[in-house]
Amino acid sequence: MSITLPPLPYALEALEPHLSRRTLAAHHGHHHAAYVAKARALIQRTPLEAAELEEVVRSSAQQHKALFNASAQAWNHAFLWQSMRPGGGGEARGAIAEAIEASFGSQRAFSQQFVTAAGDQFGSGWAWLVLQNNRLQILATANADTPLNTAQVPLLTIDVWEHAYYLDYQHRRLDYIAAFLGHLINWDFANQNLARHLAAPASASAERPLPARSRAGEGRAL
Ligand code: FE
Repeated sequence: MSITLPPLPYALEALEPHLSRRTLAAHHGHHHAAYVAKARALIQRTPLEAAELEEVVRSSAQQHKALFNASAQAWNHAFLWQSMRPGGGGEARGAIAEAIEASFGSQRAFSQQFVTAAGDQFGSGWAWLVLQNNRLQILATANADTPLNTAQVPLLTIDVWEHAYYLDYQHRRLDYIAAFLGHLINWDFANQNLARHLAAPASASAERPLPARSRAGEGRAL
């Protein structure tokens, strides 16, 4: 069985005061763990039993909604934990900073679009920073939907299901998003994902370099 609950990459209290130990314990230990358990149960004694999580997500997307929901949520949460770090947040650095300037015009414009996407996602879902067609984009997905089974390359994500923030922020999702951007977002992880993609053989010629800026200021104001 290849689908397992990965340990958090930091201690339960490491993201305090922005996300509490109580939130992380419930989110990782109950919600994420339940998605992993459900996905494992659904692939038992099927041809997918030994498959990697990514393959399970991609192969279930069209034909097996329950398995897609559980496996995509297992993958999304593993990606989420790495999208945050203690002492994170603030200005992007390195290649991702240059890509943000090229794609959004400024880091401020990126932040505004990210807040809008994450704040406006109705009901449960996610907001993502992705790379598609040589350009960074922000998108929101509903429920378990994920860019993993698309042409988009996920670089960072924030979980906007209520279980991600309700114990700490109640209905104040925008305060949670502000804390994520200001104190938690892991730009090193985004840089790693960007570098891994740009180094991949299939993308080596077509995907480099990132384009010059366009559509700057496209994002809506807060
Ligand atoms: Fe969650």
